[in-house]
Amino acid sequence: MPVIAALLAAAIFIIDTFSSLDMAIAVLYVVVVLLSATYSDRRGLLVIAGLCVGLTILSFLIMHADDVDVGSTMRALVSISAITVTTLLCLENQAATQSLRAQADLLDLTHDGIFVRDMADTVQYWSHGAEQLYGWSRQEALGQPASALLRTIFPVPAEEIRAELLAAGRWEGELLHTRKSGEKVAVMSRWSLQRDERGRPLAVMETNSDITGRRQAENALHQTRTELAHVTRVTMMGELTASIAHEVNQPLAAVVTNGEACLRWLGRAEPDVGEARASVERMIANGRRASEVVARLRALARRDEPEKFPVDLNEMIDEVLPLLERERAAQGVVLDLALGEKLPPALGDRVQLQQVVLNLALNAVQAMAAVPEARRRLFVCTRAEEGSDRPGLLIEVRDSGPGVDAANLSRLFDAFYSTKKDGMGMGLSISRSIIEAHGGRICAICPEEGGMLFTITLPATGDAPAQASRPREALT
Ligand code: ADP
Repeated sequence: MPVIAALLAAAIFIIDTFSSLDMAIAVLYVVVVLLSATYSDRRGLLVIAGLCVGLTILSFLIMHADDVDVGSTMRALVSISAITVTTLLCLENQAATQSLRAQADLLDLTHDGIFVRDMADTVQYWSHGAEQLYGWSRQEALGQPASALLRTIFPVPAEEIRAELLAAGRWEGELLHTRKSGEKVAVMSRWSLQRDERGRPLAVMETNSDITGRRQAENALHQTRTELAHVTRVTMMGELTASIAHEVNQPLAAVVTNGEACLRWLGRAEPDVGEARASVERMIANGRRASEVVARLRALARRDEPEKFPVDLNEMIDEVLPLLERERAAQGVVLDLALGEKLPPALGDRVQLQQVVLNLALNAVQAMAAVPEARRRLFVCTRAEEGSDRPGLLIEVRDSGPGVDAANLSRLFDAFYSTKKDGMGMGLSISRSIIEAHGGRICAICPEEGGMLFTITLPATGDAPAQASRPREALT
């Protein structure tokens, strides 16, 4: 570039000095100034511009020193003015570029991977942090389509993110990117939209911080919780075995009674085959019931990662209630069920959800030991969440027990918080991690009318309703 500029200046000088053209050839020195602005600093540019002005004056003196005329003087002055104005503009431009570069250098100080891409997804700026995070150098990344370069995996469809970005001017969420080495990196990504003065979207600045380590730690924690959940489940099994044994005992007794009756009907002088058949059918039905109870017991004891299938919450609750039956009956607790109609299924692990409801219901029954028997009521309710875009499903477990002090309300879900003599204080903490792993929420409040209310919110699958209608029932 300097050589080209020098040759050009020499050519202009020769033509300006020795040709007889009646033109302001020296104006072409502005090209030399513009070329020089691309490589020289402020001082160098001033020197080059000075040289161009000097050469213009020198040509003028060589050609017109003896006979100064107005035309040639004006041409020389126009050329000198053009060189001066161009130089001033270049200097101003250089200053602006330098200040922008200084600001961009500031972005390089952060460890976050920052890049700017235009609305066609082409990378326009790539920070030092982005080089470190992704392994692509600035030269490699500039001009590339960002999501193809980083093989971005979005948590929701990319169009939804774009729509939110355009509406709100910003977006925040977790993304999965791929480094140059092929390794995956989980990032917390913050996007800001830049608009031009007429409000049209211009570019997007993405700030990405690496959360791979945090994710791994969370997964490890989740794993530990799953194992802990298993331990508690096994502990709880001890208590449940008694109630299951009671459950199994009853159908087994019925099998024996019906078997004896069958033998009697067959042993008559004239065997009554119809009655004998009815007895055998009752035996089979009772045998099936017993094996279902055993199957549930085995399912509760299994240590599985959540397997997510559509779960009909009402059916799931129906299966849990018998497990609670013995405790409930022993305490004289009235059960009040209000199962919502036409609920869509939830997506989840049936056994884990059962464990949560069982936890809440057992806690409720135990808490109500502190109030007179006539006032012991357990309400279990399912319904669709109202007033939200993506309606969820609600399970409410409410009791008429003493509730908890406001001071302790926030500690209920803490691990090892228990007010019971032999309580482990893990039930609610595990329940919360199960519900959160299902993308839901669980919260506890003390309603004004007394007792405790636990509310579980779960996302619905959006499938067809699992059932037509359910009656409201009350058991005593
Ligand atoms: P644990 O049952 O082993 O104590 P949990 O985590 O299930 O562990 O419960 C923690 C504590 O929360 C209980 O000890 C009790 O003090 C309180 N709690 C839970 N459910 C209720 C309820 N329905 N009414 C009053 N207190 C409750």
